[in-house]
Amino acid sequence: MPVELENKDLAKYPFLKEAHNFVSQRAYSIENFLKSRFGERICISAQNRIKAALESKFVFDEIRLEKPDDEILSYAVSRLIVSCMKERQMIDKLCRYESERAFYFLQTEDSQKKDYVARNVGIKLDVEKISVPEYVELVPNLRDSRWQLVNRDVSEGSVSIKKEELEELLKERIRVVLHGQLPLPVTDGICSLLDSFAGEISAVYQEKLLEQFGEVDEGSFPPCMKAIINAVSAGTNIPHTARFSLTAFMHTIGMDTTGIVEVYTRAPDFDVEKTLYQVEHISGRSGTEYTPPGCATMKTYGLCVGPDSICRNKNIIHPLSYYKYKKKYSKVNEKNKDAKEKDSEKENNSKDSNIQKEEMI
Ligand code: SF4
Repeated sequence: MPVELENKDLAKYPFLKEAHNFVSQRAYSIENFLKSRFGERICISAQNRIKAALESKFVFDEIRLEKPDDEILSYAVSRLIVSCMKERQMIDKLCRYESERAFYFLQTEDSQKKDYVARNVGIKLDVEKISVPEYVELVPNLRDSRWQLVNRDVSEGSVSIKKEELEELLKERIRVVLHGQLPLPVTDGICSLLDSFAGEISAVYQEKLLEQFGEVDEGSFPPCMKAIINAVSAGTNIPHTARFSLTAFMHTIGMDTTGIVEVYTRAPDFDVEKTLYQVEHISGRSGTEYTPPGCATMKTYGLCVGPDSICRNKNIIHPLSYYKYKKKYSKVNEKNKDAKEKDSEKENNSKDSNIQKEEMI
């Protein structure tokens, strides 16, 4: 029996082709739509949608499904905005948010509709086994070790799967499908209409990065990363793993492509084209955004060079934790130093005034 979907359903799962058709009809000319007052209102909700995604705010109880058209359209416009911004992390965040949002509604969905949504992204919910190739394709970005093939019950080329696990895989599959569709090819004209919305989101995004890592402080880099930079500066031919780790590290702490490439300009054999390509690939242009390896992997790569007292005494298991710790610690030290300097200034001033008093007597 065919599944009947109302706009309320499409608002829950705006990635379905029926929702796409709805958007094409409502916003036949995207430019005119964006210029209209209604369009402007939708842009604001799209902007809020992206901001919630940036904050990883996966709270969906407040979504007002009594305005389903707004929900469907704001999904479509949010995709246009992130496509114009061409910032891979933003796309990643939005896709994660949308998959979590859909998953939230799927929890209480009637089985026929749930099955329909799942089939739309290529998942069958009524199975107890998945073929190994299919399984391997579904899990590469799931970090929990329980998804690793070695930890699964595999027999006759199939992996056993529980019902609740299938639903988790469905969420991941939605994320991957949405990710594969972005960025959309958006014209410059449309992007310029979305410019002010994108600008505001970009400011929020930069603020988030600053909140998380603060301004980039090379002095707080862990010894391993400093060692790679020194090797680059000395013109040593560093292995791919070192280049990858350093680039992913610098990208994650909020350095932009120009800043990262600048570090590599210190190499005597610096090649701008090649470096730019590698940096953009690792920073997410390829579709996958990479994070730097943890200390255990750095050790196996032979890149854990000169671990210092912070590495040893502060249970550092990731170069990023080292960076966060050292930055925070240096700030506290700076504050203490400032306070001490102020105290000693006060003391000197009071000594001076005592001397003056004595001289006057
Ligand atoms: S312990 Fe970790 S942070 Fe410290 S040098 Fe080794 S890899 Fe880097």
